[in-house]
Amino acid sequence: MRRAEVSLARGEDRRLRAGHLWVFSNEIDVAKTPLTSLEPGALVNVRDARGQGIGTGYVNPHSLIAVRLLARAPDVAIDRDFFRERMLRAKALRERFGLGPYGRMVFGEADGLPGLVVDRYGEHLVAQVATAGMEALRGLVQDTLVECFAPEGILYRNDLDARKLEGLPEGEAETWGTVPERVRVEEAGLAFEVSSRHGQKTGWFFDQREHRSRLARLCPGQRLLDVFSYTGGFSVQALAQGAREAVAIDQSEAALRLAVENAERNQLRGLRTLLADAFDALRELAESGERFGVAVLDPPAFIKRKKDFREGLLAYERLVGLTVRVLENPAFLVIASCSSHLGADELRLAFLRGVRRAGREARIVGTGGQGPDHPVHPAIPETGYLKVIYGLIEER
Ligand code: SAH
Repeated sequence: MRRAEVSLARGEDRRLRAGHLWVFSNEIDVAKTPLTSLEPGALVNVRDARGQGIGTGYVNPHSLIAVRLLARAPDVAIDRDFFRERMLRAKALRERFGLGPYGRMVFGEADGLPGLVVDRYGEHLVAQVATAGMEALRGLVQDTLVECFAPEGILYRNDLDARKLEGLPEGEAETWGTVPERVRVEEAGLAFEVSSRHGQKTGWFFDQREHRSRLARLCPGQRLLDVFSYTGGFSVQALAQGAREAVAIDQSEAALRLAVENAERNQLRGLRTLLADAFDALRELAESGERFGVAVLDPPAFIKRKKDFREGLLAYERLVGLTVRVLENPAFLVIASCSSHLGADELRLAFLRGVRRAGREARIVGTGGQGPDHPVHPAIPETGYLKVIYGLIEER
């Protein structure tokens, strides 16, 4: 069967030629190549207005991102060789950084596999398929994952918001082979267990790996306040580095239970958990006069859509203000944002405003982003979503 063609409107090839991989629906010349006749997920050739080949991609006529490119020429075979080559390249990159068998092995567009995320928990893989196009290629995904990683099992998490936008079924995870409900992570010489089926994302936030170690080094002899602690990644590493105590706040009881187990698993004492809304818990800690030498704020994305921007920015600012009130003088405050709509400068502004709100001074002593197993596609700003600021907080 001949591959369907998608013709771009005049000038709409520019962004793709500059390196981007997405075609938005309004950039297509639908008079020439109507989208409506195409099946969601079908492979297409993308051409510019003069008919020159731009690439091979997959289409979803119902999505705002109508086409995602898989290759930079038309008629490229999207077969097992194609997937093998992409996956081995992704794997080799992680090996160069010595990341071992724990981490994100495939990060969608940034690894040339739009719509696919694969996290590795030793023998087990947890995947997220976010688009109709990648769903249609799932047989190949599976075969090559098995070939390249020889896992005992692959779990496909289907509970992604993105699937709804693509018209894909959500809900129950599907498995190939066996994947236990509890999967294992080793990080900085410590062992963790998280929930593969019910945990956040695929169970563990590999993107913060570097920051958990970096923060832990600030903690010997200190009390750590770990706000939005999830399963205790920051707290456990801080305790292992000699923190006196770690107070972990999260609104998820299941996450905190795992945090406690993860501390015990590594024979670490000194973890206290607070099951609460972070804003409420911070106010209560301030009222009871508690003080901390280090705090980390790693909230969920407050700004999921552009229209949440103002409110989200204010939420970061309020959080910083509330946290600064429970800090010793001097103290370190580490704040992270995984909202791709919030830039590093804007996070810095929220940080500054929050500190001023609490009547303190600050200096920035470090910044960072996601680790190398979450490479950033330089043409697709959305792939570089994590920003982290290390602040030193002092009296005026
Ligand atoms: N720091 C963690 C990841 C944090 S993920 C790590 O390194 O592993 C964000 C966490 O925030 C989730 O566990 C979620 O349950 C929690 N959360 C979201 N909104 C919250 C709120 N208002 N108060 C407390 N916790 C919240």
